[in-house]
Amino acid sequence: MQEILTSINDFNEAKQVIAGGVNSPVRAFGSVGGTPRFIKKGCGAHLIDEDNNYYIDFVQAYGPMILGHGHQFVKNVLKDAIENGFSYGAPTELETNLAKEIIRICDGLDKIRLVNSGTEATMSAIRLGRAYSGRDDIIKFEGCYHGHSDGLLVKGGSGLATFGETSSKGVIEDIAKHTLVAKYNDLDSVRECLRLSKNVGVIIIEPIAGNMGLVPARKEFLQGLREICDKENIVLILDEVMSGFRASLKGSYPYYGVVGDLSTYGKVIGGGFPLAAFGGRAEIMDLLSPMGGVYQAGTLSGNPIAVSAGLATLAKITEDSSFYDRLESLGARFIDGFTEIAHSLSIPFQGVLRGSMAGFFFNENEVIDWDSASKSDTNLYAKFHAKMLEKGVNFAPSQFETSFICSAFNENIIDNVLQKIKDSLKEIMG
Ligand SMILES: *Cc1c(COP(=O)(O)O)cnc(C)c1O
Repeated sequence: MQEILTSINDFNEAKQVIAGGVNSPVRAFGSVGGTPRFIKKGCGAHLIDEDNNYYIDFVQAYGPMILGHGHQFVKNVLKDAIENGFSYGAPTELETNLAKEIIRICDGLDKIRLVNSGTEATMSAIRLGRAYSGRDDIIKFEGCYHGHSDGLLVKGGSGLATFGETSSKGVIEDIAKHTLVAKYNDLDSVRECLRLSKNVGVIIIEPIAGNMGLVPARKEFLQGLREICDKENIVLILDEVMSGFRASLKGSYPYYGVVGDLSTYGKVIGGGFPLAAFGGRAEIMDLLSPMGGVYQAGTLSGNPIAVSAGLATLAKITEDSSFYDRLESLGARFIDGFTEIAHSLSIPFQGVLRGSMAGFFFNENEVIDWDSASKSDTNLYAKFHAKMLEKGVNFAPSQFETSFICSAFNENIIDNVLQKIKDSLKEIMG
């Protein structure tokens, strides 16, 4: 049995001074039970907790750490960057360099703007999309997450398409009612939303959803959505905060050939620092202040340390042309092995892979949207999570998160994890 006394004490102490003991709710282990591990160090494929337990890490800070923890090249760049001060409130060449690199790699971006979090990126992109279209209502999809701004904390009702109801206390109905909620992978529900409201100016979607577990959009669905937006002059926002530089170097684009009018990025582009971006066609982006009338700003936006981490991370992932192929083949080894183990034990299982994003559900049926995702066996997941943690493997404390492969992984690590999965599931099934 693993010693976790320090984490238990740390959590109790944290709860005295931090609401719920954590600075983001999923970290509290609410949906799986048990004690969150307090981490003192990350190193390559591993996290090390305050009791000196090592964990092979499939969470990777929920996506950013594609090079693994504490990558030496990034550390060296950051040591140099810190010598020059921390933040200036004035433009730097670094920001232009990062913008050029993101625009060079991603399709459909003429201009971007850097912000501090994915939440800010989607919130700002929606404001811009509303200004450009001149219409107030937006459509989002059930199960997609775009950060915690008011208009996006809504859930659907029971119908095919509905006006949003607030999913958080403190969000007022007057805001929620401008967000319609459609079903993922279902164009009919989008058409139904457009019948309910003649005032839709923006549709926002995760082209490869990673926040209800991993649920990729079907090709006909995403392409159909693009056609609807073109026909109705609706601004399509592809939220690639997670899938960008993860599903492939170019995010979702190689899978669908679909370009958003605006796109949002985060996670990997900050290399573990608070950095995100939104961007798109020049005629839309030029509506931003100071050129246009759409206000958006940030004291720390384009922070030189965060930008340096982003540039260093992008330099590493672009210098090796086989970088994503390697991650994907490790991911396939993981998902295929996991599938085989689950089947051999007659456990309902669905595995999905998109580049370095790996998803699995304890579920009988293919997962295509939130309705099907939510039928997964969350009790089994909670037991699985606890067993794996005990054996030194860190999966996200929720069935509805994506697992990530990083470049610090190798075949041995995956095989070692698969053995632990087999042992854990056998122990659980008795
Ligand atoms: C993580 C995430 C966000 C929110 O980003 P934060 O940096 O946590 O605010 C938005 N959209 C998607 C798709 C995400 O995965």
